[in-house]
Amino acid sequence: MIKKCCGLLIALISSFAFVLLHPLESSAAEKALKVLTSTFPIYQITRNITAGSDRIAVDLMIPAQLGCPHDYALVPQDMKKLAKADLLIINGLGLEEFMGAPLQKAHPGLRVIDSSQGIGQILQYTESKPDTHGHSEPGHEQHHDDEPNPHLFASPRMSALLAQNIATRLGQIDPTGATLYTTNAQAYSQRMQRLADDFAALGKRLHNNRIVTQHGVLDYLARDIGLAIVAVVQAHAGQAPSASEMLQIVATVKQEKAGALFTEPQYPEAVGKTIAKEAGIIAATLDPVANGPEQAPLDYFEKVMRTNLATLEKTLGSN
Ligand SMILES: [Zn+2]
Repeated sequence: MIKKCCGLLIALISSFAFVLLHPLESSAAEKALKVLTSTFPIYQITRNITAGSDRIAVDLMIPAQLGCPHDYALVPQDMKKLAKADLLIINGLGLEEFMGAPLQKAHPGLRVIDSSQGIGQILQYTESKPDTHGHSEPGHEQHHDDEPNPHLFASPRMSALLAQNIATRLGQIDPTGATLYTTNAQAYSQRMQRLADDFAALGKRLHNNRIVTQHGVLDYLARDIGLAIVAVVQAHAGQAPSASEMLQIVATVKQEKAGALFTEPQYPEAVGKTIAKEAGIIAATLDPVANGPEQAPLDYFEKVMRTNLATLEKTLGSN
């Protein structure tokens, strides 16, 4: 009987404690600003900026493993996330072309932060496709002047600017958290600058600074390092080159004396390896961190970039 009473009493106290605690937890969760990010890199930057805040709940829309959402189409799960969000943070510069009309349908009037808005020194896409006359000039990159390259996130220098942009705009929307976002963004930017400085220092020591890449994702990082991209395997992301385009890339590699071809984890490496073998150069993998594991550590970008730094030094040689 005593045991039963004690049991009942414990159960009563437990449920009372639960009732006491639960409303506080749920009200904090309800009050948190639901921030949806479109891509893995923007998700990681936003998590860094809002670290230590219980005012913001950050979620990622597309699967973390997907990477660049070129040719992506929204699925019902995305629409649900969009409908629930208070704020959407996007990469911008055309990387989220798949949104547009569906976004308006899912959540008309949703507030959007465009991370790349107002950032200067934007590059145009590097092209290596034959021109409209069916032939191309080896070694001369062709550009579409109307197509900005949206892959700022793979460059530490540009990533710092994205972070500052997001922190400023987030602080305007949530002024109470503004100081934390600014402080976090400054710390993140300093980490990025250190990383960029190390890449730039390596660039000065490399034996060969001419490379071939898988798609236009490494253009900004290449600029940080001082690397020249002489050809691109996928002139349009996700689209494999034709046999004649592959031969053209091989010819360009030989003429420009490129040192290595870099594939990416996001795309199959077979075509890149074939081109490298044909051209007689090394093929290796550089990860632009367009994707990553679920709940990646906050310094995931830096860890992967340090591996890239070692890969560049190993494949291109250095003094
Ligand atoms: Zn891409």
